[in-house]
Amino acid sequence: MSDTEHVIIESGAARQPFNYAVGLHGSRFLQELRDHRRFMAVKCPRCAKVYIPPRRVCGACFVEMDEFVEVGPQGTIGTFTILRYAFIDPETGVQKPVPYGYGFIRLDGADTLFQHYIDIQDESRVKIGARVEPVFADERKGTVKDIRCFRIID
Ligand SMILES: [Zn+2]
Repeated sequence: MSDTEHVIIESGAARQPFNYAVGLHGSRFLQELRDHRRFMAVKCPRCAKVYIPPRRVCGACFVEMDEFVEVGPQGTIGTFTILRYAFIDPETGVQKPVPYGYGFIRLDGADTLFQHYIDIQDESRVKIGARVEPVFADERKGTVKDIRCFRIID
C-alpha cells in the first residue's frame, strides 16, 4: 500500500430492533411526562435522597424506594457540552445535526442530575449554574423525547 492509498472501512447495514421494559418506576416517570408534563422522582425512605429518573433501590442505602415526589420542572445546569462533531446517530441512522447542546441538569428538589439536550440558540447564556426549563414536544408518546430540550430562563 502506497502513502496515497486510503482504506475505507464500512460496517455495512445493520438492523438491531429490540424493545426493553423500563419497569414500574420508569413507566410511572414516562406516563407522568406524557400525560401531565410532570417530573416524578422517587425518595429514599432512609437517607431522603431524591432520584430522577426514579429507580427502584437507593444506591447508597440499598433499600427499596416507592415514595414518588414531584421535582422541577425548572432546574440548574450542573454541567454541559456543545457537540460540534458530526456523526451518524445510532438511534436514527442519519447524521445528527450539529451543533447541539447536551447537559446534566439538577431539577429543583432532586439530588441527582438528569441528562438531556440543552437549547443553544444563544450559546453565551449556556453556563454551569444557568436556570433552565423543559420544552415539551407537542405530541408526547411516553418516551424521554417527550421533552424536546431544556432552555435557559435567566
Ligand atoms: Zn438512601
